[in-house]
Amino acid sequence: MCAEGLGGGLPLRGESALHEAHMALIVQKFGGTSVGSIERIQSVAARVARWQAQGHQLVVVVSAMAGETNRLIGLAEALGSHPDRRELDVVMATGEQVTIGLVAIALQTQGLKARSYMGGQVAIRTDARHGKARIDQIDAEGLLADLEQGIIPVVAGFQGVSPSGDITTLGRGGSDTTAVALAAALKADECQIYTDVDGVYTTDPRIVPEARRLDRISFEEMLELASVGAKVLQTRSVEFAGKYNVPLRVLSSFDDGPGTLITYEDAVMEAPKVSGIAYNRDEAKLTVLRIPDRPGVGAEILAPLGNAGIEVDMIVQNASRDGYTDFTFTVHRNDFPAAKTLVEPIAAKLGAEGVLCDNKVVKVSIVGVGMRSHAGVASKMFQILGAEGINMQAISTSEIKVSVLLEEKYLELAVRALHAAFGLEQAAD
Ligand code: ADP
Ligand code: ASP
Ligand code: MG
Repeated sequence: MCAEGLGGGLPLRGESALHEAHMALIVQKFGGTSVGSIERIQSVAARVARWQAQGHQLVVVVSAMAGETNRLIGLAEALGSHPDRRELDVVMATGEQVTIGLVAIALQTQGLKARSYMGGQVAIRTDARHGKARIDQIDAEGLLADLEQGIIPVVAGFQGVSPSGDITTLGRGGSDTTAVALAAALKADECQIYTDVDGVYTTDPRIVPEARRLDRISFEEMLELASVGAKVLQTRSVEFAGKYNVPLRVLSSFDDGPGTLITYEDAVMEAPKVSGIAYNRDEAKLTVLRIPDRPGVGAEILAPLGNAGIEVDMIVQNASRDGYTDFTFTVHRNDFPAAKTLVEPIAAKLGAEGVLCDNKVVKVSIVGVGMRSHAGVASKMFQILGAEGINMQAISTSEIKVSVLLEEKYLELAVRALHAAFGLEQAAD
């Protein structure tokens, strides 16, 4: 079982489950930087060996070496800007094939029993949506049999096999989802995501050095932060963990420390108005100028994008004056040329004045469950940005999030100003 998607969760097995369990089953995922060189692969093997020596059963999931997936995409795109997605998956999946073999060899060199698995060998069964496949089912029996024999399975992240037997990939950052899905299928005691930061921070520590590591964060807030750009965890891995009750922890592969536990809300002590800030550089904005303000126009503009599989993110329709209005929306920067090509003829058909395009925009979001019980969070955000002279081009909100679209050059300034003004560098209020 274990189909992806959101759903109500069963009560979480306690945080202490891992410590109480004499012999825990742990899925450990190591990201690109953590397996970025031979020395780092050796230190991953040493870490796994230490956990096994404590009596735990381990399943290891690895990403490609840092930069490798981008390199592979570059090779394919050198042959044509839109490579066939089936073939691109064949190329991209080789990155993880290399690291599972190397990590298995490194473990064997330490005297441990280890065996590497491609996604299809496990088998991690997905739908056929190349480049963004979703996991339908995992056959965990083979891995359980290995564990019984003291063998450490080393599984390729990010990849699966379609119903017709083709290699699929799960979207960028998808090794996180592989790890959580395996943890769910194996009913693991914990899923540990080892990366190049020692946990989830109040914002990306690369942008704000004063960012603070959170001991815990709720599934709900982590899901929202990931979905608005905090790439420390792939969004679907958080959905999966919430749905299947997988205790999920983000830790450093370079240091020892408790990391950040992703947990249910009632277990999170503090509920500040804003728990975290995320940003997304992948936005592009299109504005259809002066279209008739009548029912059905929005659908006419967006339907062709939906049919072409282009996801629309923020949408703004201004109040109409004299029966006309402007219609603004954002898409992923990769989809920008295709979106422009689709929208321009519709704009002409609707008698619009034209389509304004801008792919130098970014989205900055504040997230916190405390927003539910506090008024005025959005207006405080707008004041902070206004005081910095930053203009907002679009706004979207959810119950626990406010996102604004800004000119790209203001990204760092906006994140730093918001982080300071909401008091995130100190213990939360
Ligand atoms: P991996 O290759 O291990 O999967 P990623 O690069 O995908 O690592 O994710 C880790 C990175 O996520 C960090 O280096 C950090 O820059 C970034 N990041 C963004 N937002 C956050 C956040 N709120 N907390 C921690 N890291 C964050
Ligand atoms: N190697 C893949 C990527 O770079 C998957 C991952 O790192 O999780 O997106
Ligand atoms: Mg990642």
